Amino acid sequence: MWKVERKITIKVDDKDILVKIYYDNRLKTSWKKQRLIDSVFLRVPPDTSDEEITKRLNTPFYKEWVKQVEKNKKLISKWDNYLEQLEFKLQNRTEEELREIIEKYVAKYEDEFIRPKISIRSINGVWGRCSKTKDKLTFAPDMKYISEEYIEFIVYHEMIHTYCLNHNPPFYRKMAERYPNWKEMESNLRMWEYLLEKNDIITITEK
Ligand SMILES: [Zn+2]
Repeated sequence: MWKVERKITIKVDDKDILVKIYYDNRLKTSWKKQRLIDSVFLRVPPDTSDEEITKRLNTPFYKEWVKQVEKNKKLISKWDNYLEQLEFKLQNRTEEELREIIEKYVAKYEDEFIRPKISIRSINGVWGRCSKTKDKLTFAPDMKYISEEYIEFIVYHEMIHTYCLNHNPPFYRKMAERYPNWKEMESNLRMWEYLLEKNDIITITEK
């Protein structure tokens, strides 16, 4: 998870597009397109100029991708309203503090499931993951920013995977036992992601 370093507005097809940039020392010539909701987020080599970025975003390949931001605009005004009602506030925790909270909720549910191994590291655009062997859970470091209520929700979700790897009816029966409102909780997790992105905290998808 890296912080946006620079924001510029670029014209693509006469539309102003907000571009968030991270200058990545590890990149030599290649660029990385990252997720986008309200803006385009790019990882580029450190010496990339604004002109180069403008030129690149105006090529057909990038234009298609950039168009998605325009499409999202309607959605975003809805999300902003909803976010206001939810009154989510980003938390200021260290990764150690996050680990303690995760351990607490794993302990709360381990009698019902198992005691898994826990690791905290960036994973491919998801909050949590369970190993195929069902004995190891990985959690995204970005969880340190969200409320404890939702940390518990994510931990519970992954704990169910230690008993049932797929999102199938038995999985959701187990989910509904503890969270009858799990659908709402899941869509609110999307709102936490959006709030992080609004604050320029963007999970980088490492491949
Ligand atoms: Zn899952």
